[in-house]
Amino acid sequence: MGDSNQEGRRSVLKQTATLGIASLAGCFRSDTTMGSDGDNASKVASKDDWFENGAVTFIYDDGPLEDIQQAFPAHETYDAPASVGIVSNWIDRDDGNWMGFNDIKRLVDAGWEIASHTASHVALTSFELVEDILPGDSRIYPEGRGNHGFSYGDPIEVTDGEKSVQRTVVDSNTDDIGKYLELAEPITDPFTAEETVERYPESFVRHELFESQNALSEFSPTTLLAPYDVIDDRHLNLVREYYDGVFNVNFGTPVNELPFDPFDTNRSYFAERVNRETVYNDLRQIAEENLYGIVGAHTHLEVVTQERIAETLKWCDEFGIEVITFKNAISRKAAE
Ligand SMILES: [Zn+2]
Repeated sequence: MGDSNQEGRRSVLKQTATLGIASLAGCFRSDTTMGSDGDNASKVASKDDWFENGAVTFIYDDGPLEDIQQAFPAHETYDAPASVGIVSNWIDRDDGNWMGFNDIKRLVDAGWEIASHTASHVALTSFELVEDILPGDSRIYPEGRGNHGFSYGDPIEVTDGEKSVQRTVVDSNTDDIGKYLELAEPITDPFTAEETVERYPESFVRHELFESQNALSEFSPTTLLAPYDVIDDRHLNLVREYYDGVFNVNFGTPVNELPFDPFDTNRSYFAERVNRETVYNDLRQIAEENLYGIVGAHTHLEVVTQERIAETLKWCDEFGIEVITFKNAISRKAAE
């Protein structure tokens, strides 16, 4: 990780400046599009089966042990459920950092929602190339991929919409052009950078979605948390075949107008990378305007303490905000 401020050609390209803060272990979205707002009065007026003072969903990323050790007791104090985005391949992993099936069962028994966070934490988006591919090149330069992990051995697809090639990633590093992926075999056709993206092949994306859903089947997941806070339209369309909604389509604000679109949601963090006053003011707006908030956290980060979680829940309590799962929110007030 650690993509901050490389010298060289890539550093002057559009969007690169926004990548400097992207090196947290957690999720980050470099795209700055904010979600749609409810765009007419009649939509916003139809709040009959919503709440009086708004509702908020807490979604915890990745499934670390701290979810059950810190978030769970805080939520129990306020009798408030939350949602967790589980990377199914990490459940019960040997390093002892992640929740096991028994932990997840405890959450479910307390009314928590289990969401998929894919099988192996893959970025569900497409990365534009910043350098042309010439025949014989085995090194490609996808913008932003370096912050949205991948594993050596993963298949990737390079496509300009007309032609498409698949290769296996065998290495990655930074040279004087920028961050690159090294492919097992060279690409024989030329590709123009501005017209070309690098992404996972559809079969691999489906495998990630299916394997995760299958591994979590006893918890009947109906929603997905997109790794790294990134997801583009191509992947949203695939995800629609498996799930009823995605928590974090747009990053930057927790506020969603009603009725909200489960595939065009806004989410932001409530403990890391945000100050308390901003969170408090967002919650006040949600309560006063009777809106829907989605807030997230990575509980393994030092700043995400049980106290901080409890404080945020206390604010919800004081504002009269209902704390509900995403699944519940979708069933109540999703857009048609
Ligand atoms: Zn994640």
